[in-house]
Amino acid sequence: MNLQTSQNSLRLYVRILSYLKPYVRHIVVILLFNFGFIVFNTLSIWLVAPFVSTLFQAGPAQEQVVEQHSPPASMLNINAWLKEKTADLIRHDNRLETLKMLSLLVFLGFLLKNAFAFGEAFLVSFVEQHVIKDLRDQLYAHIIHQPLQFFERYNTGNLMSRITNDINALNVAVNRSFTKIIRDPLMIVIFVALLISISWQLTLLAFLVIPVSGFIIQKTGQSLKRKSHRVQERIANLTSILQETISGIRVVKAFGMESYEIRRFREQTQAHFRAVLRQVRLNRLSGPLSETLGVGIMACVLWFGGQLVLAGRLLSAEDFIRFLAVLFAVMEPIKSLGNLNNNIQIALASGQRIFSVLDTPSPIVDAPQALPKRVFASDIEFRDVWFRYHGHQNWVLRGIRLQIEREQKVALVGPSGAGKTTLANLLPRFYDVTRGAVCIDGCDIRNIRTSDLRRLMGVVTQEVILFNDTVANNIAYGSREYTLEQIEEAARLANALEFIRQLPEGFHTVIGERGVRLSGGQRQRLSIARAILKNPPILIFDEATSSLDSEAERLIQQAIANLLHRRTVLMIAHRLASIIHSDLIVVMEEGRIVDMGSHEELLERNARYRRLCRLQFTGSWED
Ligand code: ADP
Repeated sequence: MNLQTSQNSLRLYVRILSYLKPYVRHIVVILLFNFGFIVFNTLSIWLVAPFVSTLFQAGPAQEQVVEQHSPPASMLNINAWLKEKTADLIRHDNRLETLKMLSLLVFLGFLLKNAFAFGEAFLVSFVEQHVIKDLRDQLYAHIIHQPLQFFERYNTGNLMSRITNDINALNVAVNRSFTKIIRDPLMIVIFVALLISISWQLTLLAFLVIPVSGFIIQKTGQSLKRKSHRVQERIANLTSILQETISGIRVVKAFGMESYEIRRFREQTQAHFRAVLRQVRLNRLSGPLSETLGVGIMACVLWFGGQLVLAGRLLSAEDFIRFLAVLFAVMEPIKSLGNLNNNIQIALASGQRIFSVLDTPSPIVDAPQALPKRVFASDIEFRDVWFRYHGHQNWVLRGIRLQIEREQKVALVGPSGAGKTTLANLLPRFYDVTRGAVCIDGCDIRNIRTSDLRRLMGVVTQEVILFNDTVANNIAYGSREYTLEQIEEAARLANALEFIRQLPEGFHTVIGERGVRLSGGQRQRLSIARAILKNPPILIFDEATSSLDSEAERLIQQAIANLLHRRTVLMIAHRLASIIHSDLIVVMEEGRIVDMGSHEELLERNARYRRLCRLQFTGSWED
């Protein structure tokens, strides 16, 4: 079980790192810079000891450097070799000259070390920001291609949180981990080799404590992963509430629910606060913990090694100082390896949340043999269509049989919840039928390329979504193939030309969330212009229910008449006028078609229809 978890973690981490693949060349340079950093870092530490001996010991400096106590039992004589090389480099006739040389070398050593550190950090940021961008783009593209039922499973706030917060968390953690994973172990190896060559006995003593700290580091890492998972979940909850209440602010206010929502939000911020504190406590504890461990080791070494120096056995004073300097230096990468584990655990928690979205397959994918389809020739047919929503038991549509001829206008009517919207949503394959088939020109729409299918139809919904862009771009929505003349013509047919011309910058006025505010009627006419411009042969039209004043109503009715002209229309009708002018009225109830015919026919023979008309269209009915 435990083995499996760590295997999974490893696989997850490798998957995160696989995003580095396109940047191999950068990484090679980063590694070279790292190498430079390590060399000069080691050198600067190494030079501390000759400094001390040059300053504080009597006699010519170079002699002590080379002659005193060559290490007796060192396995690799790196210490002696390095000492000789350093001595060659700094050897001068008098101590003042030696000191000058040493100072220069120390300065150069630190300068180069920092230059490499800067180059490395800059390149790492470049790579890391690119990886984040790639991942974010991939996640967004994946989400936007998902079918509607995906958005029912993950709410908006939750998805937004994954694209922003989780990717940020991954960013921070990947950044800190992917170079250190190479640099720190290498530094540790080099430093430990040096330590051993100076005195293996002292090294042994110092490293007795390492397994203990390793254990502590592993435990804190595991716990940290759980905690960051929880923190990210809490942030997702927060974002959800935020998104829901801000976009539904009218409802919140209309129902006087402000204080209820504030309470709900506070509960979530409190939960988030607690989760973050728990995470921070653990994260911040690991630093002091490892430092205390380090100082403990130091104290042991000082005590034991100091005795050896005092007794004049085994170790020269210079070697002892060097040993301490290197030991001190080795603490840093060890400590950061501990943090590395923490960062990786944070990255894994976010990685899990990101990949769980990325790994959702799209249920509606084009069949390999999907056919192209450019024109709509004769008819649409619902062949004994049964449908239920994913994860629900109840049938929402039960055996729908309906044929719509080219250029016929079909109105769906029926009480709320009858399944009208669901039926309309099946045509552009927002959902796939559970049983039966929807066919266009006799061809099952599941065998038609989705992009072609959707190009054949326009969807005008009740809720008008305008983007934060110019009027012209909102009408053309995303397509650059239209000329301004075409856009103007569409606006004219949608009865929108007049009000657009009165806007401060006409067609170039920015509207939408952060732009000019438009009235409900104006927004509707823009969305009608959008559909007219796209000019699809088939139109799915969910008529707006909101009542407008009579002038606005007249303009809209005219625009709708222009929109519907010479098109095949499936309309969810909310107005009597639209019903009367339809070729076919389909009455739905509880997922079934209970009757269909013209308005007059239905009025005459169908009591339910009469009742429905009375109930639903009372206002207009009495006019
Ligand atoms: P209408 O448009 O006639 O008011 P709908 O097609 O919207 O009816 O809804 C038909 C039934 O399907 C209702 O019982 C509704 O609760 C259910 N329904 C609608 N959308 C979903 C959904 N996304 N998930 C589950 N059930 C849904």
